[in-house]
Amino acid sequence: MKKQKKSGPLRKVLIANRGEIALRIIRGCHEKGLKTVAIYSEADRWANYVSQAQESYFIGEAPASESYLRIDKILDVAKKSGADAIHPGYGFLAENSDFSEACRKAGIKFIGPPPEVIRKIGNKINARTLAEKNGIPVVPGLSQPVQEEDVVQFARKFGYPVLLKAAGGGGGRGMRVVRKKSELGRAFREAATEGETSFGNPDLFVEKYVENPRHIEIQILADQKGNLIHLGERECSIQRRHQKLVEESPSTALDNRLRKKMGEAAIRIARAVQYENAGTCEFLVEGRNFYFLEVNTRLQVEHPVTEMVTGIDLVQEQLSIAEGTKLSLRQQDVEVRGHAIEARICAEDPFENFAPSIGQVADVQFPSGPFVRVDSDLRRKSEVSIFYDSLLAKVIAWGKTREEALDRMEQALREFKIVGIQTTIPFQLHLLQNRKFREGKIHTRFVEKEIHLEKVKTGHELEAVLLATALEYQRREKIRPAYAGSAPLPLWIQEFRKSE
Ligand code: ADP
Ligand code: ADP
Ligand code: MG
Repeated sequence: MKKQKKSGPLRKVLIANRGEIALRIIRGCHEKGLKTVAIYSEADRWANYVSQAQESYFIGEAPASESYLRIDKILDVAKKSGADAIHPGYGFLAENSDFSEACRKAGIKFIGPPPEVIRKIGNKINARTLAEKNGIPVVPGLSQPVQEEDVVQFARKFGYPVLLKAAGGGGGRGMRVVRKKSELGRAFREAATEGETSFGNPDLFVEKYVENPRHIEIQILADQKGNLIHLGERECSIQRRHQKLVEESPSTALDNRLRKKMGEAAIRIARAVQYENAGTCEFLVEGRNFYFLEVNTRLQVEHPVTEMVTGIDLVQEQLSIAEGTKLSLRQQDVEVRGHAIEARICAEDPFENFAPSIGQVADVQFPSGPFVRVDSDLRRKSEVSIFYDSLLAKVIAWGKTREEALDRMEQALREFKIVGIQTTIPFQLHLLQNRKFREGKIHTRFVEKEIHLEKVKTGHELEAVLLATALEYQRREKIRPAYAGSAPLPLWIQEFRKSE
């Protein structure tokens, strides 16, 4: 059996992912002079990233279980194409220890942590236990698989609400808030089923539900020689369904002392598992207290905000680390300059509680301009399907101050036109005009409590939102929007049709 390459220059990288993140990684590889191999499913035959890679291989039908989750097929392509490394991106197999191990067995460098590390920390119960052992505060909870009766006992001591969490969970799935005992049975069954079907693990644990915390995370980098640094924080409190919609760096909630403490905690836990490559340690923050949540053993969706404020290219760092190169940066070399914000543009209808929106993108006009970055694989005629994540694009804006970054983001989102499907652009614009958001007074339930787009029907509020949507653009370009949802047509489309 061949041993996994420990180090040495890479030559050709297979990207085991799709969409914007595949494109992001392809760009990073090309910049470093590495050859690239893309894989694609039936649904991605015409995707942009496929033609940007130097080679591309079809691997199966649209459902991820037939394509992007097929370790055997992906390794076949790696062998056939002579790739010597695999970058997993995020989602799909990125945090799968068996995949990392299979790469090792095939003599291919996995650009991420070794399987032992993912096993130690990928499971949330193990990660919690590890944090406790290393003196890192966690939310009061039980660090073991629980039965309903354990939860009742726990709530007797700590009170409701409590949060049931799937040990294998991710992307906000496998989680249920329980506000009173009578809700427990159903919530327990739902969370366990979701854990089983989405992550192949029905184990649940329980935590006290923190009412209005912030989600703040620390980016870390670790080379193969045991050098570890952190690149500061990302504020990710703007969420729906426990999933991020907006991310910023720095956070308005941290001062240098708290920042330093959280950075040190992230490094401590990474060191404890001999972490390798890029990773993120997530925390909940309430006042001056922070609590460990989990470690994501991969590149994160929102990594660009860190790149914008530190000037450090995280994909380049990942590739260098995989080659066995020593980190070129020391902690004191990391400097945060200005402020960056990312808006996730998803194929969801913010007027209908973020229901998925699918269909063909009739047209798309990307924003641009000074200090604006757009990461997207979208193009005209792209088919947005039900098979994958709803993320269409990420817009990232930088400014000397938070206010400047937010103003630039607003300008960029007004330029951004996506015709044919519903997107989160109107939500993002609405949020950018919210006073409390502007003041930085946010928490993880901010969207639920403060933003009520589904109630925005008339008056200046709707007008402001409409102005920013594709309406005006559609009129000019005479494009008929194809609305593919089962929900009633959004008002602005109805109005548009009447005016035709
Ligand atoms: P990030 O943590 O990078 O901010 P998300 O939580 O939105 O991003 O997750 C990014 C993508 O990865 C989503 O498609 C999500 O469904 C998926 N994902 C996250 N964690 C897991 C996991 N443990 N297993 C499978 N998919 C996951
Ligand atoms: P995932 O793997 O799905 O990303 P996380 O543990 O990172 O799960 O939590 C995702 C989000 O769920 C957090 O950002 C936060 O909004 C919410 N959350 C998680 N744990 C708690 C808790 N104990 N109390 C309140 N909210 C929580
Ligand atoms: Mg998380």
